[in-house]
Parts: sequence; C-alpha cells; structure tokens
Amino acid sequence: MGKKDLMGMTRSELQRFVEELGERAFRGRQIMRWIYQKGVTSFSEMSDLSKSFRQKLSESCRIGRLKVLQVETSHDGTRKFLFGLEDGQAIESVLIPEQERLTLCVSTQVGCAMGCKFCVTAQMGFSRNLMAGEILGQILEVRRLLKGSQRITNVVLMGMGEPLANYPEVVKAIEVMQDDLGFGLSYRRITLSTVGLIPELERLFKDGVRCRIAISLNASDQKTRSFLMPVSHRYPLQQLLECCRRLPLPSRDRITFEYVMIKDINSSPRDAIRLSEILKGIKCKINLIPLNEAPEIPFRAPSKRDIEEFQRILLQRGFTALIRQSRGGDISAACGQLRGKVMKRRLS
Ligand code: SAH
Repeated sequence: MGKKDLMGMTRSELQRFVEELGERAFRGRQIMRWIYQKGVTSFSEMSDLSKSFRQKLSESCRIGRLKVLQVETSHDGTRKFLFGLEDGQAIESVLIPEQERLTLCVSTQVGCAMGCKFCVTAQMGFSRNLMAGEILGQILEVRRLLKGSQRITNVVLMGMGEPLANYPEVVKAIEVMQDDLGFGLSYRRITLSTVGLIPELERLFKDGVRCRIAISLNASDQKTRSFLMPVSHRYPLQQLLECCRRLPLPSRDRITFEYVMIKDINSSPRDAIRLSEILKGIKCKINLIPLNEAPEIPFRAPSKRDIEEFQRILLQRGFTALIRQSRGGDISAACGQLRGKVMKRRLS
C-alpha cells in the first residue's frame, strides 16, 4: 500500500489521524503548522515532534508536492505557473500583482466539463477533479517561489475548472486556506467563481462555508446565456437569479457578477439595460471582462467604446460596474486562456 499523503488534510482530519496513531490531538495541529505555515516536506524537519513519532510518520506517510514545470512572466508582472501532478496531468495557476494585493488564481479541476463556448479550458474537456492537496499545493509552491517580503494576500478559485463541481475537495481547501494553522486568510480574501450550480451554491451557505462569491453571468437573457454556457439549460438564468436573491449573504457582502463581453453576442446597450433590470434588488457588483481572444475561440471582444457605453448604462442605473483590465494576455494567462498544455508539448 502507498504512503498516506497528508497534504490537503484539514485540522480535524489531522487531529483524528494522529489520534488513530495513538498520539494526542495537538500533535495533529503541530503537523498542520509544519505543512502549511512552514511548508516543510519531510517529517524529519518537524522538530517539535519526538524522534520516534517522526520515524513512524515517515514510514507510513508523505507530504505530496506539485512539480513546477514552467513559470512565465508577463510584461505586466503577471506570472503563470504550470504544475505537474503525480498522474502526469498538468494545471495552471496565475499570480497577479496589484498595488496592495498579490492574488493567486488557482485551478480546481484538470480541464472543465461546463463547455462554455468562449473559454479555452472548456475546449480541453474534463479529466478529473483536483484533490484538496493539489489545490493547496498551488499556493504552497507559488509561495516558495516568491521573493523576500512578498505574500499572497488573496486567493481566487477562478483558474481551470468549475469549483462547485468539485464541492468536497474545494470546501476542504477553503477550510485550510482560512485556518490559522493553515494559510490564515480571511474569508473576504477568498473568492469562489462559479457558473452557478444552484444546489451547490445553496449548500455552501448551509454548510457554513464562508467566502466571497462570484457568478459568471455572461448574458442578460436565458437564450444567449444557454447558447454561451450550456449549464444554463440545467440551471436557467431565472432560477439562478432567484437563488442569488435568497442567499443569506453577510450584511456587508455583495455578490460579484462577472460578465465576459463578446462582440455582437451580449454587449449591446439593450443587453446593458436588460442586465440592469434582471439584477435589480440584488446586492451586487458587476465585473465587465472584455473577452480574451484565443485561436480556438470563435468570438471577438467588443470595441473599447462599446464596453464603456455598456458600463455607463449600468453606472447610470446605480450599479457598481468595473471594467476588468486584462492581465497576462501575452503569456496566455488571462481569464479563459488556461489550457495546461504540457501533454501536447511533451509529445511534440
Ligand atoms: N468555472 C468558474 C471559474 C473559472 S472561469 C466560472 O465559470 O466562474 C473564470 C472566469 O473567466 C469566468 O468568469 C469566465 O466567464 C471567465 N472567462 C472564461 N473564458 C474567458 C475568456 N475567453 N475571456 C474572458 N473571460 C473568460
């Protein structure tokens, strides 16, 4: 039998695990600190554990790591990381420096099954869910590569994959991100972005998982939305909006609606007006994302003028609407451009 991988385990899992080995629960908390805070990868370094316990751990357990296959840096400072997983698959993460933030965009699946027509990841199809340890491993490996005083301040689950389609592992990863013995991030610094899987969205709140929610809306009517995002056949726009109205958000929080702007599809003034109507009464802000183009995507971004006009209409109607500046386009690190292309490269 292979060694048990402790990477990705939550506080309660580690406590239970050491108790099963006949140790007291606080030993699990010590191990947790070593893994996530200090980033050690061998049990011999865990100097506050007894020699014999360390020995026992190294015989039966391991701390899994991701392989850093490639790092690319954009002229705007955005960095893209290609990570190899133990089964030979690859995923990408993107590090986005801003004035007061350093945001890491992590993947939650290898590929994606949602089939959105404007997204490169969707074109890869779906391979598998990531384990919590593989989601957290992206944070750990990137942190190892940071210089001096740099700290990851925010995490967005917006890389490859649909986080809510990998509910249990994503929730475990979020738990460790927030745990004081893990990465100690406040829930306001963790954003989960979803196509809008209604049952899982509701389950997040029922389970008391706290994080910011971003919903990829991308259209103001059901017909256009289900054309762009097949998932909208299963969870129609109307129901998604009703769900958003019902979610028990903390009073200071707002939902973010992401809206990828696509020329001739969803970005006319009429769309803007309709969007303002369907979002009436929902505490929200709107991020307008000009489509990032890619060879395999059959769409174009609207002109800057059209995007600004769209924004103006929303602002005029009292919404907070930002045009999200695209980052990392020159290294294919922008939204919707992640394709984890290691397999192809290896073969060629
Ligand atoms: N599956 C999740 C998270 C990954 S996609 C979700 O859909 O939210 C992250 C964001 O990138 C989504 O808002 C998505 O609509 C956007 N996106 C996808 N392809 C894009 C593209 N080509 N250009 C701009 N944004 C894109």
